[in-house]
Amino acid sequence: MGQLSGPTDPSTDAGWTEAKPRKGFFTDTSICIGCKACEVACKEWNHNPRDGDLQLLGSSYDNTGALGASTWRHVAFIEQGRDRIDEARESGRALIGLGMPTVPGHVDSDTTVPDTPEFRWLMSSDVCKHCTHAGCLDVCPTGALFRTEFGTVVVQADVCNGCGTCVAGCPFGVVERRSDGTYATPAERPGHPDRPDHKFVTGVAQKCTLCYDRLVEDQTPACAQTCPTTSIKFGNHDDLVDQARHRVAELHSQGRTEARLYGANENDGVGGTGSVFLLLDEPEVYGLPPDPRVCTADLPTMFKRAGMAAAGMVGAAALAFWRNR
Ligand code: SF4
Ligand code: SF4
Ligand code: SF4
Repeated sequence: MGQLSGPTDPSTDAGWTEAKPRKGFFTDTSICIGCKACEVACKEWNHNPRDGDLQLLGSSYDNTGALGASTWRHVAFIEQGRDRIDEARESGRALIGLGMPTVPGHVDSDTTVPDTPEFRWLMSSDVCKHCTHAGCLDVCPTGALFRTEFGTVVVQADVCNGCGTCVAGCPFGVVERRSDGTYATPAERPGHPDRPDHKFVTGVAQKCTLCYDRLVEDQTPACAQTCPTTSIKFGNHDDLVDQARHRVAELHSQGRTEARLYGANENDGVGGTGSVFLLLDEPEVYGLPPDPRVCTADLPTMFKRAGMAAAGMVGAAALAFWRNR
């Protein structure tokens, strides 16, 4: 097992001797229009079925609900009024250094945001974070999840035994088992005339592959390729993080102090993420954990304590034996 926490290059850490530059996403939610083209493109490219019967959630105009075994991209709609917008702006202000006080009326102190006066929809296309330290991968007992040469995390459906350990291991609630047991294209499903011997695997774990099949052909992932506003940007991870930082600075200079990055800190609990987001409110508003932590980060300390406890027990047993004699 490689490094369990802190900054690292995940593909080199996983043992790739000819690792490629780490690939990832920068999802800029400030320019997402909620068209859900990314969701559709993902389903189409990966032959993912719809999630159950078409139904209206009643709580939002977003009727696909959440990421899941068949929804590897999910665009959340969050409706907000003036009060919440002001709160978001204040909490953003607390995160950033706004520099020296400026003269009222000066362009830097104008926090008016023309496109969100009294009400706004936050729209954010969520996806697997392709974590630097991926809990799903670390806890998988069969090795079904693996780190690619691009630093991404992929499930090998034909190796997964459906135990669900990865589901508990993901701090973002991304990976899910598909309840109908299918994991492949229609032509590869059990019972299909082309594959009569295909093994039926129940409840295989499913999630975004960052379009691994497209990356190896030097193609852009289907969701990023389709996004009409470039809200989803794909590329080399480090370049995207730089781009994200510039975009936050640009929004701050326009008075949009609520803009903040998520996943760009390599010292966070998962070592930073391959999918970086620009958010316009606190992570919890989007259903994201504010301080994600990979469950295996504390393994060395736990093993050390367990070792000390075991040594203590052996010592106590030896002492008792010696006294009895
Ligand atoms: S977000 Fe969850 S499923 Fe995706 S790589 Fe990280 S731990 Fe794994
Ligand atoms: S990278 Fe591919 S698998 Fe992942 S969300 Fe985008 S289209 Fe779906
Ligand atoms: S395709 Fe782009 S603009 Fe449309 S919902 Fe997805 S991220 Fe937003």
